[in-house]
Amino acid sequence: MISTPARQDDVSLRTGRITIDLDAVAENWRTLSAWLTAGAECAAVVKADAYGLGIAGIAPALHSAGARTYFVATPEEGLALRALLPEAVIYILNGLYPGAEADYAAANLRPVIGSMSQAQSWASFIDSSDSAPLAALHVDTGMNRAGLTIDEARRLSEDDRNSFAPAVMISHLACADTPSHPMNAEQLSRFRTVKTLFPGSAMSLANSAGILLGKDYHFDLARPGIALYGARASTTDETPLRPVVKVEARLLTTRHVRRGETIGYGASYTAERDMRVGLVAVGYADGLLRLAGATDERQGAFMSIAGRKAPILGRVTMDQTVISLENVPEDEAMPGRIVEVFGPSVPIDDVAAKAETIGYELLTRLGQRLERRYIGGYHGSGD
Ligand SMILES: *Cc1c(COP(=O)(O)O)cnc(C)c1O
Repeated sequence: MISTPARQDDVSLRTGRITIDLDAVAENWRTLSAWLTAGAECAAVVKADAYGLGIAGIAPALHSAGARTYFVATPEEGLALRALLPEAVIYILNGLYPGAEADYAAANLRPVIGSMSQAQSWASFIDSSDSAPLAALHVDTGMNRAGLTIDEARRLSEDDRNSFAPAVMISHLACADTPSHPMNAEQLSRFRTVKTLFPGSAMSLANSAGILLGKDYHFDLARPGIALYGARASTTDETPLRPVVKVEARLLTTRHVRRGETIGYGASYTAERDMRVGLVAVGYADGLLRLAGATDERQGAFMSIAGRKAPILGRVTMDQTVISLENVPEDEAMPGRIVEVFGPSVPIDDVAAKAETIGYELLTRLGQRLERRYIGGYHGSGD
């Protein structure tokens, strides 16, 4: 069910809103799933509240698309997801917290074992347990973030007293967003050697960008996150995934700025000619990063009004941002007008790049102030 957007004057007090298209998330999952090598399963990474988009909306949409295996970062996130999806397989990427074995098992959360000591604690828990709780094993192949070294994994596999056999062995690529980087092939070949350690375990290497590296990287289980949410996974990514998020905010006022005058804090942008500018009710408290605007030194991102580009000028402030209205006819830029901050007309990755970051950070920093609206999926609101 897709609800029709509210007319701009429907809600006179509305400052702006974030629209999240659950059908697009579901379709992106299906697209990724269809790309995988035959027999590989597509999981879904929904850590950090589904990359800031709200697990309560996203998880049921992914489940209805067919996703059965999920990765979150923390046990709390796992519990929240368990409440939404009683049957799902849920892995906790942060691993096993000391003393928490029974709590993981009680909620059927599977830790991604990330160190030798976690492996030992889990093995003793298995020994003392009537059921057979499952877990993944993270083996580091070059990222040096989490995971056992390959030597440690080998020792674990050769230890006669070890009763822990992972349901899945995972590793994580450090440079998957750069397909030409030699590290990809190195990590791939190291990961292949890991297979023999626990021959019964499934294997999982690819995040979103790893999926794009090709079928060699898919193994048994892929773990896309960012691509589900419509942001670019790879520097060379021109994939037909659908945008999921649209951020809009209200134009508050317009004014004229004269050539040579500066705009905003730090006077970082100087007008090169007389120009009309607008003030938009969105700022870094809403997740628009402070450095997204143009300064005298560098180009900035743009917003979109009535299909026209409106460059951001100067520093983004907490609640308000100045844009150029040079390309926008006056009657299209009256106060109250809704401006697209990013979404279908303003690629999230362009905004992120101008702010020297990545789409992941833009999504996970979306604030709580703007109204959130889910369309499609189970959560179509009639507005
Ligand atoms: C976050 C994460 C993913 C998902 O990565 P994307 O780049 O968002 O697809 C997969 N695996 C691990 C270990 C992660 O931490």
